[in-house]
Amino acid sequence: GIAVLGSTNMDLVAYVARAPARGETVTGREFRTVPGGKGANQAVAAARAGGEVVMIGAVGDDVYGAALRAELEHSGVFTDLLHTAEGPSGTAHIVVDDEGGNAIVVIPGANSTMTALGSGETAAIGAADLLLLQLELPLSAVVEGARSARAQGVRTILTPSPVQLLPDELLDCVDLLIPNEHEAAALTGLSEPQAAAAVLLRHVPAVVITLGAKGCLYAARDGAPLHLPAPAVTAVDTTGAGDTFVGTLAVALGEGRPVPEALAWASSAAALCVQKPGASTSMPYRSEIDAA
Ligand code: ADP
Repeated sequence: GIAVLGSTNMDLVAYVARAPARGETVTGREFRTVPGGKGANQAVAAARAGGEVVMIGAVGDDVYGAALRAELEHSGVFTDLLHTAEGPSGTAHIVVDDEGGNAIVVIPGANSTMTALGSGETAAIGAADLLLLQLELPLSAVVEGARSARAQGVRTILTPSPVQLLPDELLDCVDLLIPNEHEAAALTGLSEPQAAAAVLLRHVPAVVITLGAKGCLYAARDGAPLHLPAPAVTAVDTTGAGDTFVGTLAVALGEGRPVPEALAWASSAAALCVQKPGASTSMPYRSEIDAA
């Protein structure tokens, strides 16, 4: 199975012709609440792709918390280790304008209560084949999760988002790092993916740099790099593409499928995701990925 140690957020999205300037009020067109958070999104992607997935994290004791939990359960994610903390759930306040530009405020809320792991979390990590980590929880919990996985012989995949300086104690416990090309450039100072991958391989044994419509680049210490183009599709909303890619890749790797085959399967899933609006709502189910 797959354990995800990560964030849950409710995205509160306002659609407006033009975002307001400071001090200004504008009337928008539409409001939507969309379940999100990188952790929850990866968990949903993995569960829909056929993985047995346990989500470790926290929601608040507000209406959003209940909705976020229900959404995860609806996709088949186990939520026994998704704690309900006192106070608000994590929220992302998003203004999308008619040109598709956005401005976002994230308030971590309950996510910030996840500073350390208990025995239940450690046991769930030990029972998994793979642990998925991102950087939307306090770094102390991410490091503890990675160390716990390493100590128990569980492979870890880290999505370094939101991008920040990664301490060695974390990188030392990461088996596969999956930045997008912006994150890879921010981590290394190198915008050329091959060059960035070479630098990242000094710290971790394997890297996948996702390249949007250009596909992905896989590089490992033991073998030649592999560039896989993305399927040519018409993208309507690329939100959640990276999380779909990571969640489905984890399922394939957990099943012991060879890396090139796992990457191709994850690329198919991500390409399906970008053809529909929304993030977790547009993530494909296993039968759809196999059919693509
Ligand atoms: P993120 O969503 O984290 O910014 P990317 O934009 O690199 O990450 O997208 C992740 C993956 O999603 C890509 O490696 C690719 O497989 C797929 N993808 C993203 N955009 C497209 C697109 N326009 N067409 C096909 N696949 C896409």
